[in-house]
Amino acid sequence: MRVLITGGAGFIGSHLCERLLGLGHEVTCMDNLLTGKLANIEHLFGDRFTFVKQDVTEYVHVSGNLDAILHFASPASPVDYLKLPIQTLKVGSLGTHKALGLARAKGAIFLLASTSEVYGDPLIHPQPESYWGNVNPVGPRGVYDEAKRFAEAMVMAYHRFHGLPVRIARIFNTYGPRMRIDDGRVVPAFLSQALSGEPLTVFGDGSQTRSFCYVDDLVDGILQLMSVDHTGPVNLGNDCEMTVLQFGETIRRLTGARSPIVFKPLPVDDPRVRQPDIRLAREILEWSPKIALEEGIRRTLEYFRGQLAAQAAARGAAISRD
Ligand code: UDP
Repeated sequence: MRVLITGGAGFIGSHLCERLLGLGHEVTCMDNLLTGKLANIEHLFGDRFTFVKQDVTEYVHVSGNLDAILHFASPASPVDYLKLPIQTLKVGSLGTHKALGLARAKGAIFLLASTSEVYGDPLIHPQPESYWGNVNPVGPRGVYDEAKRFAEAMVMAYHRFHGLPVRIARIFNTYGPRMRIDDGRVVPAFLSQALSGEPLTVFGDGSQTRSFCYVDDLVDGILQLMSVDHTGPVNLGNDCEMTVLQFGETIRRLTGARSPIVFKPLPVDDPRVRQPDIRLAREILEWSPKIALEEGIRRTLEYFRGQLAAQAAARGAAISRD
């Protein structure tokens, strides 16, 4: 297959590029590098891999045929999308429209990376795909949540009006190597704090829950979703739920860090609970997450240790230059 991945230099996008290349496909990665990094894809350059630095909200052109488009471009951490509210709204709306237009022109199957944020601060728990959500459209998180909700609506319109084959993956909290250490999400925040001996910053009283999925499991789920004929949204995530405080304690145990826990204000509209109902994915994709939190965190820790060592070396080199 020839596949285009928008946001291919980001955390999940780069893992998808790598996996598809490994399976023998030809991959074009499109990214404006706003939150993605060339370092995530540098090792992939070769015959079957092309990188295009482009903003998907502008007119997009890819020469030759395309069999599939995976639309992953978007700031995805709360810190990033609060810093980039307009770009986040644009990539979810205009970017999705452009990517869909390209899919239609090429006769390519289209997969949207949607999110558990479409459920907002959910009143139904765990969240099944049939739940319409509880989103504050005018709150600060609305820029991401509504952009993704609009994107889902746009994808369904292209399917209904143009007959485009589409898939919608509602992705729940995913972690692993290549998350930016400073992206503000709880996994890189706690891991880098624990590795540097700094206090773990728990927002609110830490009783809010999340369910963390290792990136390789998610990539398996995405590829399975591409291979079945199912149009509506499908939750992809790990249903192993815990409080943020429990997560902090797990990180302290796994790293052996003595970092104390400090409490910081809870961000506005931070969902109080989140756990995917993955019965649909189990049934139609015959998929379920395999990698336990401890194993996933061990692999991610290795990556962050390397990143912190590289940062320290770069600082050392800068000081000796001065
Ligand atoms: N969080 C935290 N400390 C941090 C970063 C995040 O306690 O340093 C909390 C955050 O308030 C939320 C949960 O951890 O309740 C997950 O946050 P994240 O930013 O990873 O993603 P979200 O699930 O909110 O999209």
